[in-house]
Amino acid sequence: MSVRELSAREIADLVKRGELKATEVVKAVFDEIKNNEKKLNALITIMEEKALKRAELIDEKVAKGQWKKKALLGVPVVLKDNICVEGYPTTCGSKMLEKWISPYNAGIVDYLEEAGVILIGKSNMDEFAMGSSTEHSAFGPTSNPWDLERVPGGSSGGSAASVAAGYVPLAFGSDTGGSIRQPAAFCGVHGMKPTYGLVSRYGLVAFSSSLDQIGPFTRTVEDMAIALDVIAKHDHRDSTCWAGDRPSYSEAILNANIKGMRVGVVRDFMEEGLDDELAQAVEKGLGILVENGAIPVDLNLGDIKECALPCYYIIAPAEASSNLARYDGVRYGLCEDADNLLDQYIKTRGKSFGDEVKRRIMIGTFVLSSGYYDAYYLRGLKARKYVCEKFKEAFSNVDIIVMPSTPTLPFKKGELIGDPIQMYLGDIFTLPVNLAGLPGISVWMGLNSTGLPMAMQIIAPKWHEVRILKAAAKIEETIGACPLAPGGE
Ligand code: GLN
Repeated sequence: MSVRELSAREIADLVKRGELKATEVVKAVFDEIKNNEKKLNALITIMEEKALKRAELIDEKVAKGQWKKKALLGVPVVLKDNICVEGYPTTCGSKMLEKWISPYNAGIVDYLEEAGVILIGKSNMDEFAMGSSTEHSAFGPTSNPWDLERVPGGSSGGSAASVAAGYVPLAFGSDTGGSIRQPAAFCGVHGMKPTYGLVSRYGLVAFSSSLDQIGPFTRTVEDMAIALDVIAKHDHRDSTCWAGDRPSYSEAILNANIKGMRVGVVRDFMEEGLDDELAQAVEKGLGILVENGAIPVDLNLGDIKECALPCYYIIAPAEASSNLARYDGVRYGLCEDADNLLDQYIKTRGKSFGDEVKRRIMIGTFVLSSGYYDAYYLRGLKARKYVCEKFKEAFSNVDIIVMPSTPTLPFKKGELIGDPIQMYLGDIFTLPVNLAGLPGISVWMGLNSTGLPMAMQIIAPKWHEVRILKAAAKIEETIGACPLAPGGE
């Protein structure tokens, strides 16, 4: 079996037993990257030298009988390029930050290195995580490893493609409105957005601070649980990071039992606007859970589907316009000599932000401006409260909810780039989950009739990732773990 076919857990086990050298893992990963990167363009920065040094250190430690308790020893990992790694660029897919070198590690980077991983590179993404196709990257689009003509989803498209293509078994992204779950669905891998506050965002470049969350991409549910064990820690450097205890996710899914688990299904989400085969995939997923003893419950979530999109496109741009004000041509990223403030903005913000980022800054500035605040931002906050209440009501009757991850299959590059509203509509099933701060996973559901990946989303109340993982483990027992995509050979 080649290294690319192994799960993170399998690599760690072999490395700990001395049966696979970390240096061999790194060599295999970079061979893979060299063979495929031209067609995939999944990575912005490759950390070959750092990875090799790290692998040599791991092999030395193992030879001395040390480091054997590290959960992810020798596991190659890719990080979305909005997560800081000391000494390396964090571009956020933008010309603005192309030359900016992170002076510190993100919280999860410390935790991952402590657990023994080997960092391989930083992945391509829509600029500042705004987008659903990775086409809004200043470094060119990423291709979907299942069909190179199609997008991998976004904004964490490079991370999803890296796992699907078999560069690495584990990658991380950020999800503000669907940017982990949607690319996971499009690339045929599992992707989880944890509860808001479960994982430290220290060192994650902010897009919309009340929505952003970091999470993993994997090809097995077991790896997802192990990854959560490693990253879901309280971090005093992130004031929104929850201080409560986290369970052991990997122990919780051993012999997962879902007998009696009440599974909500929202029938009106399964009607118009949803691809037929994706609707069947959700029915199939629900069927698998019921065969394993779960109880199906028909749910009504009111108007959240109608409400979530306009609500998100007020709140997220409002927060983004304020978060991106720090790129002022003086302190971070691109700086230019200028005659006056306006000239400075034109030469820096004007020149280096892409169209989508400018669109969001303008929407956000508009909805926060005096005279419009009540009409837009305040109403957005009320709509958000409504979404939270509907979920709260629903979770008094059910333990988890299943729904589609996306309304469509992966679309072709260029197809939606000129139609922002259609692009935004692709997040219709993921946005409500961020607005309510809930955990959600996109689970692999096999290929459709034309060979494109399908998925289903599972949602739980806050802090109940264990329920999601148990249900996902049952789905995986029937559907199988995510296979490697043909585009990464
Ligand atoms: N596609 C959504 C957007 O463009 C979500 C992005 C995200 O989750 N980062 O805002």
